[in-house]
Amino acid sequence: MLRQMKLATLQLLKSGGIFDLVANSRWRQQRLLILCYHGIALNDEHLWRPGLYMEPTVLEQRLETLKRGNYAVLPLGQSLDRLRAGTLPPRSVAITFDDGTFDFYKQAFPRLKSCGFPVTVYQTTYYTDLQRPIFNLITSYMLWKRRAESIADGREIGLPGPLDLRTEASRHRVVLRLLEIADREGMSGAQRDELSARLAALLGIDYETLVSTRMLQLMNAQELREVASSGVDVQLHTHRHRTPEDETLFRREIQDNRDRILALASTSPRHFCYPSGVYRRMFFPWLAQEQVISATTCDSGLATRDSEMLLIPRFVDTQNKTGTDFESWLSGVGDLLAVHRTASQTYVPAET
Ligand SMILES: [Zn+2]
Repeated sequence: MLRQMKLATLQLLKSGGIFDLVANSRWRQQRLLILCYHGIALNDEHLWRPGLYMEPTVLEQRLETLKRGNYAVLPLGQSLDRLRAGTLPPRSVAITFDDGTFDFYKQAFPRLKSCGFPVTVYQTTYYTDLQRPIFNLITSYMLWKRRAESIADGREIGLPGPLDLRTEASRHRVVLRLLEIADREGMSGAQRDELSARLAALLGIDYETLVSTRMLQLMNAQELREVASSGVDVQLHTHRHRTPEDETLFRREIQDNRDRILALASTSPRHFCYPSGVYRRMFFPWLAQEQVISATTCDSGLATRDSEMLLIPRFVDTQNKTGTDFESWLSGVGDLLAVHRTASQTYVPAET
């Protein structure tokens, strides 16, 4: 009901010319909208996790809206420099993708390229080396594939007793228990992948066929090199997609991530994105020590000249947002009307 009222209000503001008025205002020109995307579905990932995956046709509609609306899509670094200098063009936008998945390479990159839009990829790198599906995602996806079922006994995967797969909450509990086993036993990525294969067998899923689709995997070294040499700006997202609350471990995440990006993309990244949008103030001096000059969050908002450079908000675009929602954020109206700004600061291993 509330959502319908909000959409009706947005429609009214749009048809009344308010979107255009705000989009062309001096207020908007002093602000930057940074768009945040995750995955673009290769198959049915958007039905499994619509907050993380989007259908390619939705992305196409978004890009069309950007083109039609004469938005100035700028490279991230340049847009942040110009934000600070007060020299942004009207209707400025930067596009970012988190994680650097294979589906970015396959689905997003060709579409962005044909529009001539610059893009930043915040690349996490552990699974770039491993080239297997991301453990917590593939296990969740496979359980969802069997969402009408209950499994009589999960002993095969270390979970004796029945497994109910019929609700999102009960499936999530199974993923958490698997993660707990993997962490407790100190499993390597390869060992976690063997556990995924055992789960697939239990569920009657052909794991190697699923792996061959490259779903829920990252770009490999060759693909990363290719997009970087085609102008994709590859930046930091930690090596293992985590932010330990210990300086040495935290900085090692940045260093390992930077080393891989430097080796593969031949650039020295200085921009960072917090994995899962989780940040703590204690991270700021550690990021500064690592020469990081900007860090983006999943908090909603337009960036202003006064935004803290290590706490830059974005607009997280998802499958469930309507075209009008999207346009409201492009114009700046979405920012003016925003109620919920802060992303959850509880680490949920739901993302890569
Ligand atoms: Zn991420």
